[in-house]
Amino acid sequence: MFPCTQCGACCLSVKGVLALEALGWVAEDGSCRQYNRAEKRCRVYRSRPLMCRVDEGRPAMIPADVWQSLNLIACDVLHKSIYGEPREREGVCPHDRKE
Ligand code: SF4
Ligand code: SF4
Repeated sequence: MFPCTQCGACCLSVKGVLALEALGWVAEDGSCRQYNRAEKRCRVYRSRPLMCRVDEGRPAMIPADVWQSLNLIACDVLHKSIYGEPREREGVCPHDRKE
């Protein structure tokens, strides 16, 4: 499973993401309307789009370790852009919480 640290940076940086734009989920500030900032979790986690599912979204031709590395780099870039500092790589993703 992808080692998400629940930073929320990806859900706060969805401007221009066509799949979410089409759903009307991109807010004025570029965040996803389904992201609950107070609880740091996705309101529609169980039915979230495929693009929000790192492991399930891996193309068959890309090895799992390469896919994870690429996504970790993307997380780091997003985190830096949102919070202005390096991302922690420890912790538990709020998306993993039992509802
Ligand atoms: S660690 Fe990556 S996938 Fe997890 S919330 Fe942060 S940016 Fe999103
Ligand atoms: S649908 Fe959920 S996981 Fe996907 S960007 Fe929005 S808040 Fe994040």
